[in-house]
Amino acid sequence: MAPENPTWTGSRRLLRHMRQVMAGPDTAQERLDQIVRLIAAEMVAEVCSVYLRRAGEVLELFATEGLRPGAVHHTRLRVGEGLVGDIAARATSVAIADARSHRLFAYRPETGEEAYASLMGVPMLRGGRVLGVLVVQNRVQRHYSEEEIETLETIAMVLAELVAGGELVGPGEAGSDAEVVELPGRLEGLTLNPGLAAGRAVLHRRRAAVAQVVAEDPHAELERLPGAVASMLGTLDDMLERPELARGEHRDVLETYRMIARDQGWLKRIEEGVRSGLTAEAAVQKVQNDIRARMAQLKDAYLRERLMDLEDLADRLISHLTGADATIEWELPGDMVLVARNLGPAELLNYDRERLRGVVLEEGATTSHVAIVARAFDIPVIGSAAGALALVEPGDLVLVDADNGQVFVRPTDDVRTAFAASTAARKRRLAGFAALRHEPAVTKDGVKVELMINAGLLIDMRHLHDTGADGVGLYRTELPFMTRSEFPSVSAQADLYRRVLDQADGKQVVFRTLDIGGDKLLPYFAPGEEENPAMGWRAMRISLDRPLMLRHQMRALIKAAGGRELRLMFPMVAEAAEFLRARDILDMELARAGGGPVPRRLMVGVMLEVPALAWQLDALLPLVDFVSVGSNDLLQFLFASDRGNPRLEGRYDSLAPAALTMLGHIVRACEAADVPLNLCGEMAGQPLEAMALIGLGFRALSMAPASIGPVKAMVRSLSVAPLRDYLRFLADSPSHSARARLRAFAQDHVIIH
Ligand code: PEP
Ligand code: MG
Repeated sequence: MAPENPTWTGSRRLLRHMRQVMAGPDTAQERLDQIVRLIAAEMVAEVCSVYLRRAGEVLELFATEGLRPGAVHHTRLRVGEGLVGDIAARATSVAIADARSHRLFAYRPETGEEAYASLMGVPMLRGGRVLGVLVVQNRVQRHYSEEEIETLETIAMVLAELVAGGELVGPGEAGSDAEVVELPGRLEGLTLNPGLAAGRAVLHRRRAAVAQVVAEDPHAELERLPGAVASMLGTLDDMLERPELARGEHRDVLETYRMIARDQGWLKRIEEGVRSGLTAEAAVQKVQNDIRARMAQLKDAYLRERLMDLEDLADRLISHLTGADATIEWELPGDMVLVARNLGPAELLNYDRERLRGVVLEEGATTSHVAIVARAFDIPVIGSAAGALALVEPGDLVLVDADNGQVFVRPTDDVRTAFAASTAARKRRLAGFAALRHEPAVTKDGVKVELMINAGLLIDMRHLHDTGADGVGLYRTELPFMTRSEFPSVSAQADLYRRVLDQADGKQVVFRTLDIGGDKLLPYFAPGEEENPAMGWRAMRISLDRPLMLRHQMRALIKAAGGRELRLMFPMVAEAAEFLRARDILDMELARAGGGPVPRRLMVGVMLEVPALAWQLDALLPLVDFVSVGSNDLLQFLFASDRGNPRLEGRYDSLAPAALTMLGHIVRACEAADVPLNLCGEMAGQPLEAMALIGLGFRALSMAPASIGPVKAMVRSLSVAPLRDYLRFLADSPSHSARARLRAFAQDHVIIH
């Protein structure tokens, strides 16, 4: 057993005393008063105060040892105001040796706190909510240690239980927005998986309540842990046995997840919590609180999602420790919309798929594992819906419009009627598109347009057949790399690419080599901080500087395509010379493959997404077998306008004259050199944009599977000849965008757009 840490002994003694006080006959206020005195004494602090959260986002001083007694129930701060308010707003602990000169210090003369230099404050967290703030202060400039912060956090957790009893601040009041719950509400978020859904709200609450926080016998608590961990791992194994999870990318996600569950660092921190005097389940909760606090500070959405997995696991472990089953079997509505702060992939699977119509998450990004699993099951999901849990009450009717990133809560009759009409129209539209599946994408004047899908996960491949697309125009190989916890081996990659080609069943697939960096970070490869990541060390730049990764990928692709056609392309190439360097590496790998299986035919292309390359086409085109325009990046660089910055949304239009002129230039150069050209950015999937692209001369477009139907319907209603001339005219215009005129053109010519 690890040597006894003196801080644990102190913390255990304090927790023991607190337990005696909390079990005593006094009123909650009296108990709180005694507890602040105990804490001040044990932590050798002149001041210990508790601020509790009240309705209206206010923190009120409820008890103090050391500040003026007259300030109790008088001093109030807004959440976000002063150091205490900041701790509540960010749900993070703070320790400052010289608090008075801190920029956030909010002076309240009635407290007399000007006498105290240092301050350590921690949020009182329960179920992800901040119920208050616990503060200690010292006269001298004291540097509080990590262990002291840990101890205060543990105490705050125990205090949160006292507060949650509801005697101090009524349960309806603590930080709730009780007054708005009856009104209809609307939330906005991001589409993580499109579709429409309606159902009764189920709030995903962490069910397993921790009844006992302070341990009677820490050694017995420590002994409970391994059994619970083993039984949790067992249920994860059982989940992986489920037939619907037998294959596909979501299985990889769950396997990664199971690996996290075995993470020794996590388990060790839980053990430390137990050694400090908590019960095993309370120690798990404490580690979970820490994770939440860290999560709130992380800017990187991808990393936040990884921490989310840990949080999900913590819940599971608590369930196993408290004996509650982790599967959900309470009364659930027949049609349900699940509302959660965030969800782990396995948590989603706990719900009955037959009843689950939609999911609304307060957090959650497109890279979420839960989004990947939801896509596999075709459940509409909205993420980044801030305030969802505060607005939605269990049982509320919730309409999820994941096509437009909107959620209607307790909708009025008009909204319900309109939504029902949209759902019916969507069904009809989808049925109409499905009927077009076997029809060719040929314009009214006989121009054939190749329509392909963009894919990135094995599970996307089924859309190749259900949309009737001509192939995969862009296979983003980085996605599987992002859902793993380590770099996949050559054979694992080869296996994946082989399965992609098998499922394509002879239709063409264009593999794009790794496009990492920028916003696509791998958990096991950190390119380091960059001022300007989109224009930084990413994609081909990394591949050329660290050629081993590229070589492994090429080796795997060559192996996988043995005897079949292999098409691959390089992303973010800025000059012909870079293409040549990449091509040399490929030739080396081909030579290395020697007597082994090699592709029957090799097509090597380039993505055109850096404007410089558009001005080197004469040199480039003789070297390549095809060109694929990555309009997402090309346009962001053309307009010097960050594609991920919501403030710039709508500022420059993809149908702006400059964009049309540049794209027209690329088309003409490729036509003259007889090099096949495709466009695989988001533009291709919008019917109006796709119409413009065809007018400019594009004959191959690659898009999200859901766009194939609408774009094919547009193609089949279009005559190219009149559009071609009109586009030439629009490209020369000084207007901001040709969008309005193109829309009018589509209407006049009865083009479905
Ligand atoms: C693009 O830039 O248009 C593209 C298809 O690549 P990604 O969106 O993956 O950067
Ligand atoms: Mg790109």
